[in-house]
Amino acid sequence: MTLQSAEKIRFLKEFTRQEPIPEAGIKRALELMQSGRLHRYNTAAGEVSEVALLEKEYAEYVGAQYCLGLSSCGSSIYVALKSVGVLPGDKILCNAFTLAPVPGAIENAGAVPVFVEITDDYLTDLEDLGNKAAQSDAKYFLLSHMRGHIVNMDRVMEICRDLGITLIEDCAHTVGCRWGKTFTGRFGKVGCYSSQTYKHMNSGEGGLLVTDDDDVIAKAILYSGSYMLYERHISRPPMEVFDRYKKIIPNFSLRMSNLAAALIRPQLADLERQCRRWNERYNLLEAELTGVPHIRFPKRQAKEGYVGSSFQFTLIDTNITSVENFLKTCAERGVEIKWFGAKEPIAFTSSWKSWQYVKDAQQLPNTKKILDFMCDFRVPLTFSIDDCKTVAAVIRQVAGKIFSK
Ligand SMILES: *Cc1c(COP(=O)(O)O)cnc(C)c1O
Repeated sequence: MTLQSAEKIRFLKEFTRQEPIPEAGIKRALELMQSGRLHRYNTAAGEVSEVALLEKEYAEYVGAQYCLGLSSCGSSIYVALKSVGVLPGDKILCNAFTLAPVPGAIENAGAVPVFVEITDDYLTDLEDLGNKAAQSDAKYFLLSHMRGHIVNMDRVMEICRDLGITLIEDCAHTVGCRWGKTFTGRFGKVGCYSSQTYKHMNSGEGGLLVTDDDDVIAKAILYSGSYMLYERHISRPPMEVFDRYKKIIPNFSLRMSNLAAALIRPQLADLERQCRRWNERYNLLEAELTGVPHIRFPKRQAKEGYVGSSFQFTLIDTNITSVENFLKTCAERGVEIKWFGAKEPIAFTSSWKSWQYVKDAQQLPNTKKILDFMCDFRVPLTFSIDDCKTVAAVIRQVAGKIFSK
């Protein structure tokens, strides 16, 4: 019996199932609920709120001067754009392969995205970045480290310096990731992170914003909805910095709740171990799929300290019909693969073509070609190493079946 005719392998676990919240987080959340002190500014005399403690710990973890907790990464990006001085009508460069909340944050700030092409390795095309910067005269680059793929940050910094561009990083999917020894989010003027359920720390919803800049953090704290209670932050600049802005910055009410912070703090303490567990799974999947005809992986650069919490590959030397067959057959066998090449946006997956509120339809032929053949799936930590072997076996078997025709 050949491998092709072997029994059909099926996978039975859910790709959307996350691990439980650590016991310490559940215990702390219960205490908070018993005290009723869920709002970050509802503290007893002398007490430091759970959100304020998290902000201090996260700033220390990534080596930033300041951190602010917010309601989501999307709202963090919005607040970051406002705080660095983006005005309505400003152009913002952004890699076209990103998630819908990213152009959403740009639109929310009244600004206009200028999409930049990506490369075969799913990274921002730095040549196109230079071209689009010159054509548009944009002075901001919102770099989204989409699905944890980290572009050469040394070159990004050179380009931004040369062209006088302010960099903001969307690190929703790169909590715990580094370029060289530096955490993502620490290259730009501001870095934004997510603690939404599908990311590396889970509080349902949540965002963290970091910066070293006194004025940016003071503005961000005010925008987030601090009322005149910003003194209670322990990750903040001197009080006089707030005096410059306290009457001219609106309160957007985008705070993080103490409950979210209580769930995140023990996950932050355990983050490095979790990242290693993701990479064990990622590296195994890559090893199991290496050499399978028609499957290509992105090249990872030596300085890229990635966290493989999701897996992407490109189907090569084939056509769209075969890609559709491949995805359908994998799904029938329990392996749920996302596809950015679909004509209609589905669930969390949409591409720049369906963000039609963006004026000036932009042609991105390379990005289209790449996304048409890119496969994407989550690697939740509820999958054991054996589960990952089964996922790889399904993909290998289905690829053999579809592409041998
Ligand atoms: C999830 C995600 C976001 C949005 O994060 P939220 O916390 O859900 O707002 C932004 N960018 C990328 C790349 C993401 O993966």
